[in-house]
Amino acid sequence: MTDTKHNVYWNQNYTASKYAFDTTRKSGAIAEALKSGAADVNLVDPGAFAERAAELIRKVHDPGYVDAVMGGVPERLATSQGFDWDPGIPIMAVAHSAGLVAGVTELLSGDGRVAGSLSSGLHHARAGRGAGFCTFNGLAVAAEAGLGLGAERILVLDLDAHCGGGTRSLTDPDTVVQVDVATAHFDEWMPSGQAALLFANAENYLDQVESALESADRAGPFDLVLYNAGMDPVTDSRVSAEDITTREERVATWRANRNYRLVYSMAGGYTSSQTSMRQLCDLHLETVRAFA
Ligand SMILES: [Zn+2]
Repeated sequence: MTDTKHNVYWNQNYTASKYAFDTTRKSGAIAEALKSGAADVNLVDPGAFAERAAELIRKVHDPGYVDAVMGGVPERLATSQGFDWDPGIPIMAVAHSAGLVAGVTELLSGDGRVAGSLSSGLHHARAGRGAGFCTFNGLAVAAEAGLGLGAERILVLDLDAHCGGGTRSLTDPDTVVQVDVATAHFDEWMPSGQAALLFANAENYLDQVESALESADRAGPFDLVLYNAGMDPVTDSRVSAEDITTREERVATWRANRNYRLVYSMAGGYTSSQTSMRQLCDLHLETVRAFA
């Protein structure tokens, strides 16, 4: 019998840093929920891809910055994403990329069409420094992995609340088309060619997502889609949880109708006095469930 469940990548290393923040902690809570049956998926350890991820990180990022994250010095660079450095930081940062590399490798070398990684903290990281809680740019690393495995056209669909300027700075617009819907201007970038950066608010959010998918269709077809499924439009920008559920169903249907290979990551989404870790996990599980 064929196993129709998709793989969701995660291991303990995702939460290896002593520095506690949603980006370095929430994947553990989401993994616990998946172990308890919150969605019909396989939770898979991407540990075997850590070495490959580390190689790709060195292709995407400047060696001096990678060395700083690995060793903790110079401190200015090692903490540039906004976290205090500890020996778990590089383990955590490589693991988040490894999950995406595992997903890309699985889809481009087999029959699978969807994979997820409980990775977060990706799209703001630049070649020579971290930014906005992002240490290594997992989307750019995953795109590099895809190009190495023969993908010729890749779509980065970034629906985090913030713009993905880091990813844009690290990828070639001729092969990696980026389409963002943002609800905040942080890390804004200048679209060119077939790329699109749309701004949305709570009122027109789903309309803008629809426009983004139409932009993607004009630029397609694609050999691989990397979907950065941020929940901070809800936690930071008052987009409703109902609209986010609809968004995930819409993106999943869009993918299924084109039979695209798609790897998703969790991206932003933050706890606050209004949002508990449980509520944040439930939001991210909407992504997993929509693709399950
Ligand atoms: Zn964000």
